[in-house]
Parts: sequence; structure tokens; C-alpha cells
Amino acid sequence: MNRRQFLEFAAAGAAGVLPVSSLARARVRNVQAVTVLGPIGPERLGRTLIHEHIMVDFIGADAIQPGRYDPEEVFLKALPHVRKVKSAGCDTLVDCTPAYIGRDPRLLRRLSQASGLQIVTNTGFYGAAQNKYLPRVAYTETAWQLATRWVKEFENGIPPSGVRPGIIKIGVNSGPLSEIDAKLVKAAAITHQQTGLTIASHTGDGVAAMAQISTLKSLGVAPAGFIWVHAQNEADTRLHLRAADAGAWVEFDGISSATAQKHVELVMGMKQAGYLSRVLLSQDSGWYHVGEPGGGSFHPYDFLFIEFLPLLERAGVSAKDIEMLMIRNPRAVLTLPT
Ligand SMILES: [Zn+2]
Repeated sequence: MNRRQFLEFAAAGAAGVLPVSSLARARVRNVQAVTVLGPIGPERLGRTLIHEHIMVDFIGADAIQPGRYDPEEVFLKALPHVRKVKSAGCDTLVDCTPAYIGRDPRLLRRLSQASGLQIVTNTGFYGAAQNKYLPRVAYTETAWQLATRWVKEFENGIPPSGVRPGIIKIGVNSGPLSEIDAKLVKAAAITHQQTGLTIASHTGDGVAAMAQISTLKSLGVAPAGFIWVHAQNEADTRLHLRAADAGAWVEFDGISSATAQKHVELVMGMKQAGYLSRVLLSQDSGWYHVGEPGGGSFHPYDFLFIEFLPLLERAGVSAKDIEMLMIRNPRAVLTLPT
């Protein structure tokens, strides 16, 4: 679909299926970033972890259901971790667990209220992992219909919580994009155009990243609306530079003691090429594992603040650069157009 066809398609959809499109724009004017406790001024986001998880359920979309976990137990397990990362200097945490894989906005809201940590949740479907986490509607509905679902969550909140998403999270396998993955990307593009939400995409490899960037471009979405999630898994660092040069966000997540040195090198490579302004850092850490006794082992969120940022400074990344990586870049991602 070229841009002209997309615009016609979008106009047809906006007239029939999605009468809320102009409302969505109007409502976000003079706003803001959307947290689980409501919209806030972007300057309040502060130091942000752009990709972490509070809870994940790997059972699959066919078997997932409420009642597979005790919300109280999850709350009590996660609370010390969110409190700890807040005292380590984190102001905002983006929970990247999509629907059908353990997203629980009420749990996130409760944790945010109890800890004072700002939390952001997401809308979208996760197509990676052989599509195990995709509900049937992902196959039976069109990209426009899927986008209608996601825009509704942005407009009205995620039922029954009423909590609104602050980012779009999708997932695609390695490239080239399969038919279903391409549909998810199109649905995300429509949702982005209706809401202003940035698209964070779990991306199998660099081929899939470049394919998504060009698909989005052909649909009229600027690369700045797209985050290449898990970019550290692509060994060919030239693709990181190419994505950044196009204007996309390159997210190096999965930071831990085991990967710290590799992540320092990735950041230094981007710094030397002049692309730190396109880099996002996070740990992809956590979480309560539904189905495991006591939620299994919960990896803390504070390593990045306590260990990794000092490592970056020792490698020559300035305090100003770190402010860009941890505050300005995530703020640009989470700020909705006014
Ligand atoms: Zn993740």
C-alpha cells in the first residue's frame, strides 16, 4: 500500500469504523505522557526505564485467563523491586508486557500508587515466538479493525481498569515480515496516526527492523515513531547505524551484569557515530512468572542505575550524554504530539 492508498484507506476507516480519530487528537492536545495514573507533563517523566516487565505469563493466548495468578501475591512480590529502583533514581518504568502475555493494568496502577514510581502500560499484540501470544482476532480481523481495538484502549482505557496505554507494543519475528507480522505493523501504524503513541516493536533481527521502518514509511509514519526493541541481538552494528540514520529509535535492552561490557561497546559505537540521540537503554528485567511457584526468580530493576551508568561514565560517556539517554530520549518517545 502506498501513502496515497493508505490515506484513502485511513479516511474511509475514520469515517466509518473509527469516528473517534479527531477526538483522540483533541484530547491529547497540551498533553503529555500517559501513565497508569493518568496523563502527566513530560517534564515529570524523569529518569525512565523504557522496557521492563512486572509480570509475564507464557502459557499462550489460547490458555491465558484471569485467575491463573493471585494479584495480591504478585503485588507483594513486585512492590519491593519497584520501590528499590525508585530509590536508585528511577522516576518512570514502562511495562512492556502486552495483552495475552500477562498485561494487568490494575496491578500496575496499584504498584504505582504504593511505590510512587510512575508506570506506563501499552496497547498492541505480540506476534513473535511463533505467534503463540496472538489471539484469534489477530488472524480474523483486518489491520484497521485491530487498530480500532487499540485506539479504543487509548480513548476509553483498557477494560475493566480504565487505565490508558502510553505506548504501542507489538512483536514480530525475524525478517522478512510474515503476513501476520506485516498486519500488526500496519495496525500499529494506524494506531500511531490516530493517537500519537510511539510503536515499540520486539524485533527478531535487523532485517525485520529495516522492513518495519520501510513499511511504516510507506504508510506515512516517520521512523521517529518506531522503536527497534532488542537491537542488541543484531550482530551487524551497521544496521543500528542505518536505523538511527533513518531516524528510528535503537533500543539496547537486556542490560545485566552478564552483558554490561557488550552494552558499553554498543553505546560507545553509537556515540562515536554521533547517534546517541537515537539510543534507548533498558534491562528487559523483572518479573513475576505466572505458573512458577512464588512467581519464580524476579530480577531486580536497579542494576542499570547502580552499576551500568557508572560503567558508561568510566568509558567516557558524559553526564550530559547520560541525561540524554535516560531522560531526554525516553521523554521524546513518551510525549504525545500537541
Ligand atoms: Zn521484554
